[in-house]
Amino acid sequence: MDVSDYESLLKKTEDVLSKSNVNQQRLQIPEPDIMQEGKVTIVRNFMDIVEMINRDPKHISKFLMTEFGIGVTISGKRLIINRKISADQISAKIKLYMESYVVCYECNSPDTEIQKIGRTYVLACKACGAQHPIRIATESKADDTKIEEGKTYTVEISKIGNSGEGRAFYRGFNIFVPGVKKGDTVKVLIKKIRANTAIAEVVDKEKN
Ligand SMILES: [Zn+2]
Repeated sequence: MDVSDYESLLKKTEDVLSKSNVNQQRLQIPEPDIMQEGKVTIVRNFMDIVEMINRDPKHISKFLMTEFGIGVTISGKRLIINRKISADQISAKIKLYMESYVVCYECNSPDTEIQKIGRTYVLACKACGAQHPIRIATESKADDTKIEEGKTYTVEISKIGNSGEGRAFYRGFNIFVPGVKKGDTVKVLIKKIRANTAIAEVVDKEKN
């Protein structure tokens, strides 16, 4: 693949991005309204946040417990966290939760639900119909949640784009891979990243 091919792919990437932005709905998640009492942090509007996210409050509180590594308790509309935590820290974790369990990995719509298919939990999107196994984003595993130019990753081609290029959705990135078929599992080298889209080149193909 030469430079001009990359240029044209980049152009297409931008077209795809601008289209997906049109469909993008944004959830207005309220800022955590917190109060600190001694060593305890109380999120007074926890249930308002949960309502916007539209997930089981226990699931969200369990996620926060794991992420913060401390005990949390739901009490009426409030969440009690057994440590001093800032509103920004809570917002960051809520954002991570959204990325893992709420926002569609393909079209970014929050109009999704978690379904269990066989033994796998998948995030099913009502807006675009995409279904993907839940990918858990955590800050503690920061290196597992992004991709970098010049590095290789093994990805599965989940569809073929309008220009015949393969598409893989991986770690929140939409990866364009020329010269592959749907269903291929390939090792790719990331050539270029722009926003959440990347262009990659196949370096190895798994034999079926
Ligand atoms: Zn979607």
